[in-house]
Amino acid sequence: MLKVIKMTTSEELKTRLKLEQIRIERVMNQAKDEKLGKIKGGEEMVAFVNEDACIGCDQCPTVCDDDAIDMYSKPLKNPLIEVSSNRKAKIIREDCTGCRLCVLICPTDAITMIER
Ligand code: SF4
Ligand code: SF4
Repeated sequence: MLKVIKMTTSEELKTRLKLEQIRIERVMNQAKDEKLGKIKGGEEMVAFVNEDACIGCDQCPTVCDDDAIDMYSKPLKNPLIEVSSNRKAKIIREDCTGCRLCVLICPTDAITMIER
C-alpha cells in the first residue's frame, strides 16, 4: 500500500521558526535575569573596567543608556607590535547608575561592579 507523506508548508515552517525564536528569547532573558541577580548593582555601586582584560570591542558603551562609558586609545605595551587602534573602555563614575548592563554584555568579563 502506498504511504502518503504530507509535506510541511512554508507557512508551517514560518510558524515553527517564530515559536523557536520566542523560546530562545525566553531562555536568553531567563539566563540574563539569573546572571543579573548574582551581580550587586544600584546607587551604591559603580562599574569598573579591568583595562588589561578590555579588548575595545565597543559593546559596553552601546548598551549603557546613561552615557557613562568612554572609549580611549592606549599605546601598546610592546612597541614591536603594530595595530591601528588599541582602544579601552573607561567608566565615567558620576554618570554610572549601577544598572549592571555593561557587566552582562562584556565578552571578556572585563567589567565588575565595585562599591562607590
Ligand atoms: S553599570 Fe550601567 S550605567 Fe554604569 S557604566 Fe555600566 S551600563 Fe553604564
Ligand atoms: S565590553 Fe568589555 S571588552 Fe568590550 S569595550 Fe567594554 S570593557 Fe572592553
